[in-house]
Amino acid sequence: MRDTDEPPLGYSVDEVSENVRRVVATALDLGVDDVPIDASLFELGAESLDLLDIAFMLEKDYRIQYPGTGMLERAGQYFDRDALTSNGVVTDLGLQLLRVGMPELDPGALKPGLKDIDVARMVQVGSFVRITVRLLQAKAEHPRTCETCGGVLVESDVMPEFECAGCGDIVPVPSGDDVLLADLIRMHEGVREGR
Ligand SMILES: [Zn+2]
Repeated sequence: MRDTDEPPLGYSVDEVSENVRRVVATALDLGVDDVPIDASLFELGAESLDLLDIAFMLEKDYRIQYPGTGMLERAGQYFDRDALTSNGVVTDLGLQLLRVGMPELDPGALKPGLKDIDVARMVQVGSFVRITVRLLQAKAEHPRTCETCGGVLVESDVMPEFECAGCGDIVPVPSGDDVLLADLIRMHEGVREGR
């Protein structure tokens, strides 16, 4: 059940956007003005290690746990792999999920024949903003009552976790993989119902 009042994230989306641009600029040795929100990381010259670096810096800044895998790989944990990509080409279902799951992408680029390797190259600065905001939201919505003693869970200032003020139990923040996979499953239900 969801509270009627949305819990505050602690940051506005604009603040997160500005910070993500700064982090990407730092990781890639660029000026912030050279990092528009809709630029693809690949076009900015980022390599896989840079993406990990960016995710790591954002995890530290916001005490969240970034997902470890790309959207299609993550989906592969739930769907039959062949349902999403076949011989390296994204299927119709894969395209539909990308359209709802990565709304920052140009829908015109998500067309039949798209290769899965190209999807990784489409990840944008704004993709990191979307994921960061989503994980902040999941953290804000996390129950604050300790399951062991009923005490209050307090968010850590330094680690991606809560600590119980009563018994000292440590509870990790929701993992990015879990949160985004659950979202994906919901999106899939939506895509099916929309047919
Ligand atoms: Zn406790």
